[in-house]
Amino acid sequence: MSDRLHIYSGWTVDFWTTALEFGYRNFLTIVYLSVEEGKMSQLSFRFGTVGTPKNKPKNPGGSVGGIHYLHDLGLRAMELGWVRSVRVSDTTAEKIKEAGIEKDVALSVHAPYYINLNADEDEWPKSRKRLMDASRAGYISGATDIVFHPGSYFKQPPAGVLKTIMPRLEDCVRELRVEENSVMLRPETMGKGAMLGSLEDTLEMSKIDGVEPCLDFAHLHARPGDGSMNSTREWIEVLETYLKALGEDSIKRLHCHISGIEYTEKGEQNHLIISESDFNLEALFQALLEVKSGGRILCESPTLEEDALFVQQAWQEFSGEES
Ligand SMILES: [Zn+2]
Repeated sequence: MSDRLHIYSGWTVDFWTTALEFGYRNFLTIVYLSVEEGKMSQLSFRFGTVGTPKNKPKNPGGSVGGIHYLHDLGLRAMELGWVRSVRVSDTTAEKIKEAGIEKDVALSVHAPYYINLNADEDEWPKSRKRLMDASRAGYISGATDIVFHPGSYFKQPPAGVLKTIMPRLEDCVRELRVEENSVMLRPETMGKGAMLGSLEDTLEMSKIDGVEPCLDFAHLHARPGDGSMNSTREWIEVLETYLKALGEDSIKRLHCHISGIEYTEKGEQNHLIISESDFNLEALFQALLEVKSGGRILCESPTLEEDALFVQQAWQEFSGEES
């Protein structure tokens, strides 16, 4: 009993010492923020946008402004859309990182489109540089995940293509780790059958430690081109295959893109607003809930943040989770 009292009074003394050291107001802010974080983490997924939100105010500009605006809207993730090139100074990158931490907006990067793991020997160094530049600047910007389009089959059979690309990808991760860069490289599932990036391809690439898929739900739906991959049963199959390949931890940190999509028998055409498309959001949500998944869902439809809010709201209603 006396031991207990001792511990208890020790804790009280610690409390007041800490309070005095930090200043009482700061201390309360820390307590408040921890409570907020606890409350906010009720949702299994963070929702947000791929690219800077459309209607962000002019000030502050750029990605920092985007992060502030998403926070004000109640969204909690953003993918920096470096899809043409990587041109960010270290100073700007550090400001982006600070804003992400301050506003609790989780960051990732969409690397340039012009990356092709299956490029020929002459082209590969340029592709590799784009992926590495995105990974390096992304890491300084506080991004934990680097999404990229894996490339094209060039009409070669997928098995042969994978033989070419696996050592290339492995070498990129190895070099990043030597630099103490901990980003996860995420090859995206692509919306056309001719493109490298089926679910199976991305899972194969994920045999490399430090590589996991970016599941683009719209692309997965458009890829077969016949309107399939739009039911709970089909999504559960996808997620169970993922779970079997990568395990429980990985299914709790899914990195996903979502939007409506227009497609032909060859696959993806255009991204659409979800409510104006045939995408069955509830069927997907049911599957995500059943496999107890979590992570980030980033919206890529033409109205970006509007649709991201729509998806977040729909998730809350469907799952019963509260923010
Ligand atoms: Zn993409």
